[in-house]
Amino acid sequence: MHAAKRLIVLCAIWAAGLSAQSPRKPASQPDVFLVTIDTLRADHVHCYGYGPIQTPALDSLAKDGVRFAEAFTPSPITNASHTSILTGLLPSTHGVTDFGVRLASTFPVWAELLKKQGYHTGAFIGSVVLDSQNFAPGLDRGFDLYDNFPKVAQNKSRWGRLERRGRDVAQHAETWLSTHPAGPHFVWVHFYDPHDPYDPPPPYSQIYKDRLYDGEIAYADSALADFVTYLKKKGWYENSVVIIVGDHGEGLGEHHEETHGIFLYDSTTHVPLIIKFRGQWQAGRVVEGQVRTTDILPTVIDLLKIPPPGRLDGESLISYLDLVGTAETTLRAAFGETDYPMRFGWAPLRSVRREGFKFIEAPKPELYDLRSDPRELTNNYAPWDATVQKSRAMLSDLKSKMPVRSSSAESVSQSTIDELKALGYLGPADVGSTTNVPEPSLLPDPKDKIEEQNLLHKAMMASEDGRSSEARAALEKVLELDPKTPTALRQLGELELHAGDYAKAAEHLKHAREILPDDVTAAFYEGQALDAEGDLVGAREALEASLKLTPSRFPARLLLGQVYLSLKDPKAAEDQFEAALLLRPQNAEAQLWLARAQIASGKFVGAVQQLEPLSNSQPNNAEVFELLAQGYSGLGKKVEAERAESRAKTLRKNRQP
Ligand SMILES: [Zn+2]
Repeated sequence: MHAAKRLIVLCAIWAAGLSAQSPRKPASQPDVFLVTIDTLRADHVHCYGYGPIQTPALDSLAKDGVRFAEAFTPSPITNASHTSILTGLLPSTHGVTDFGVRLASTFPVWAELLKKQGYHTGAFIGSVVLDSQNFAPGLDRGFDLYDNFPKVAQNKSRWGRLERRGRDVAQHAETWLSTHPAGPHFVWVHFYDPHDPYDPPPPYSQIYKDRLYDGEIAYADSALADFVTYLKKKGWYENSVVIIVGDHGEGLGEHHEETHGIFLYDSTTHVPLIIKFRGQWQAGRVVEGQVRTTDILPTVIDLLKIPPPGRLDGESLISYLDLVGTAETTLRAAFGETDYPMRFGWAPLRSVRREGFKFIEAPKPELYDLRSDPRELTNNYAPWDATVQKSRAMLSDLKSKMPVRSSSAESVSQSTIDELKALGYLGPADVGSTTNVPEPSLLPDPKDKIEEQNLLHKAMMASEDGRSSEARAALEKVLELDPKTPTALRQLGELELHAGDYAKAAEHLKHAREILPDDVTAAFYEGQALDAEGDLVGAREALEASLKLTPSRFPARLLLGQVYLSLKDPKAAEDQFEAALLLRPQNAEAQLWLARAQIASGKFVGAVQQLEPLSNSQPNNAEVFELLAQGYSGLGKKVEAERAESRAKTLRKNRQP
């Protein structure tokens, strides 16, 4: 063969090889699929060495990818930990340390970064706790579709209102992918199943009937299998990057913590992390060194060779994988942070996990030698210990680099707080303003309060489930432990209020407010209880106290107006209803109450002006016409009054069964 001809043939072979390797676009980016599994302890996954469970999907991804044996979340709370995964930042940096806190637009999110690179982006969540309409504002940035929950729940069942089963979440993601086949994709799928209450569907409820938490994990694994099978069927698996990570673990009684959120022990911070790279690079490798969930986004940025955002608290994991040894990885310090104890009036915690030691900063500080004491049972804290001093220096260095912000939860509605409680969390607006919060070191150590937290959690879940006597018993037990627990007093008050025992409710709530005068929710409930009991002066005082702290609380305004009307002070009532209408101008109930107050103070012109448009928008509301009749009578318009009266009568008659 002539040299020139040989060159042409070689070129043809080379070109053919090229086109076989690169499908449509020569520089196409891989699909990226992120699967977060809620409340997943690393040591309850089969490929992490837990024998009594079957997790074939996780195991097979570990076989195709890299399994990080020692991965840690900086936060044991869903919103904070997910925000850390999606930003590569610590909670103290991104500021989402509580439910309902908006992620500041200054921090770019994973989806935004990839969208800029031409990615098609979708997020599919399994719990209302990550809904961007209330609990996780800002987390939807950069997503073409963020699959929130319906604004109005279709039914009262937990499923669809608060949670979606993993298979449903996978279905939602698959449906979207099928209708948006053009890549590259970035899809985040969130399986909430292992979160309590543990209620796996059959056959997992049977196979794991004595270990329902494991049953939920096995079920979540089946949802993951469903999703991976779909990706394979579409031919997207091989060339994609698939990342599986837990958002936090579960206490399961270790350190007396039943669930998660309060402590920073490994039981709730050690999570599984598996990354399957494009073309199964490094398949089957296990990295033993300590890594953090904040390292995930930097890794993706590194892989895709895209410009990083201004700040990242984590670092890419690629450099570690290029190397053979693992000793170098022990230097990555894993920070832990939780402010959730503050919801109960207890001290927040900070921790540093580094070189085989864990230091926890608390009113009673802790130091564990993880090599000899992996369960963190023997506290070796001494103020002069070198590890303690180094850890404290690292924490204060971190604090000095924290962006200055006035982070506070957005005002969330009562229904939102109720949903949060149904999930077993105490909501942000439950404990009034935080201006009077003392120095953290002066607050009780959560270690001394964990039994109370378990009971409060139990009570919230029992209330949600309609088991009120169980909830009452749990709350009474909290008060036996500490009769001055405002959260228990408030919840007990709320429980009695709903049960109709107004005197008891008022008593508990009054007590709660004596301990925590800024508790707006307790004040509001006390107002309701006293009003129901007929103590109008007391109700007025409580509602005014509640509104002084949060003036924009619509139901409190409405109720206070009604109390004023009952107190024969229509002028003051009018003020309240007008204020309520400033908050919700279209609210028919407030409009009707305002008309009532106006009629009571003889302002018939105003009342009729208020009611006439309502009679058009609500032509079947008997009350509107009844009040209209009173208004016309007051104005001497006899004919109109009679017409309105007869309309009201007809409507009432039709309403009778
Ligand atoms: Zn979670």
